[in-house]
Amino acid sequence: MNNYIITLLKSIFPWMTTTDFWVLLSVYALIVFALSVFVYRDSKSRGGKAALWTIFTVIFGGILPYLFYLIVRSPYTEEEIREEELQKEVVELQRKYYELMLDKEITHCPVCGEEIRSDYLYCPYCFTQLKKKCPECGRAIDKNFKICPYCGHVFEEENEGKGVVE
Ligand SMILES: [Zn+2]
Ligand SMILES: [Zn+2]
Repeated sequence: MNNYIITLLKSIFPWMTTTDFWVLLSVYALIVFALSVFVYRDSKSRGGKAALWTIFTVIFGGILPYLFYLIVRSPYTEEEIREEELQKEVVELQRKYYELMLDKEITHCPVCGEEIRSDYLYCPYCFTQLKKKCPECGRAIDKNFKICPYCGHVFEEENEGKGVVE
């Protein structure tokens, strides 16, 4: 078979020696081998029929089937697909987290149990004082705090007493 090919090649390229043909054939075989290894690994990473593609590449002489494979292969590797799914899950989790944070703003009055927002100073249903406003920074803080945790404003004893009476 090999001798036949060499005789054939010699009749087409009479100026080349037998060694030249062997070198050329070896180089070509190396190229086919390298391409089939690439096709096998690449196809496997994309979840394709790796063994079939490798045989296809070898039988049809390496370069053309390799180019054909590049055109028809799956555009994403399995890893890329997994990463994209993971990314989607992260986005979904973030959405749920923000929803939860928003939910936290809705709470219930400790006295009458009606739905109120967490920044309300007074319950609009039963008039209970829930929080007090810091005169320094204007934030709503727990009505029993003696110092504002945000700006350090110290509440006088009389203010606190007044709050309890109310
Ligand atoms: Zn209430
Ligand atoms: Zn303050």
